[in-house]
Amino acid sequence: MSEFTSKKVMVFGGSRGIGAAIVSGFADAGAAVLFTYAGSKPAADALAASTGAVAVQSDAADRASIIAAIRAAGPLDVLVYNAGVLVGGDPLTIDPDAVDRLIDVNIRGPYHAAVEAARTMPDGGRILVIGSVNGDRTPFPGLAAYSMSKSALQGMARGLARDFGSRGITVNIVQPGPTDTDMNPAEGPDAELMHSVMAIKRHGTAEGVAKLVLYLAGPHAGGITGAMHSIDGGFGA
Ligand code: NDP
Repeated sequence: MSEFTSKKVMVFGGSRGIGAAIVSGFADAGAAVLFTYAGSKPAADALAASTGAVAVQSDAADRASIIAAIRAAGPLDVLVYNAGVLVGGDPLTIDPDAVDRLIDVNIRGPYHAAVEAARTMPDGGRILVIGSVNGDRTPFPGLAAYSMSKSALQGMARGLARDFGSRGITVNIVQPGPTDTDMNPAEGPDAELMHSVMAIKRHGTAEGVAKLVLYLAGPHAGGITGAMHSIDGGFGA
C-alpha cells in the first residue's frame, strides 16, 4: 500500500513543469490521478501514458469548463490547482486583455475549482493551490498583475480554511520561488537577476515543489491549513 492508494487526486494544469511533477508524484504514490491541460496535448498524452493518469482538456480560464471537469471526475480527495500564467511588463502598455486572462486563470480559476471540489470532497480532504513567492514580495518592476494574482490566493486560503475546517478539509498555498520550467528556465535571461535576491542562488526544481505538495496532501498534514508555504531559496527572506 502506498500513501495515496485509493485516493482520487485532480491537478488543474498538469501537462508541463511543476504540474507534471505533481501528477507524477501522486501517481508514484498510488493515487488515481486526473489532470487538466489547455493547449499542450502532446505533453499531456505523453504524461498520461507514462503515469497512468487521465488527461482532461479543460481551459482554466473558463469557469464552466472547470466546474464540468470536477463534476465529471466525481468526489476528489485532493484538489491541486497549479495552472498559472505570467504576464509581465510595463502596466502602462501591457495588453489589458492579457491581464484579464491572467486574472481568470490565476484567481477566478482556483476559487471556483476549490469551491466546486469542496461540494463533494469527503471529510479530511485537501485543497492546494500553487501560488508564488511574488505573493509576498515583488522585488522587480513589471510584475504587478502577476503578484496581485498570487497575493489574492492568500486571502482565499485563509477564508476557505475557515469555511471548510469543520469538515477537516485543509486549504493551503504552496509558494515557489524561481523554479526551472518552461515559464522560468534556470538558464533564462533573467535568472541571474532573480538569483541576486535569493539566499540560495539557484533555481529550484519542479520535483522539489511536488514533494512539498504531497506532504501537505498527506496524512501528517491534517493540522496545517490557511497557510502559505514558501519553497523559494530564500527569495522572500
Ligand atoms: P509552465 O508554464 O511551465 O506550465 C504551466 C502549466 O499550466 C502547463 O501545464 C499549462 O498547460 C497549464 N496551464 C496554463 N494555463 C492553463 C489553462 N488556461 N488551462 C489549463 N491549464 C493551463 O509553468 P510552471 O510549471 O513554471 O508554473 C506552474 C505554477 O507555478 C503556476 O501557477 C506558476 O505561476 C507557479 N510558479 C512558478 C514559478 C517558476 O519559477 N516556474 C515560480 C512561482 C510560481 P498547457 O501547456 O496545456 O496550457
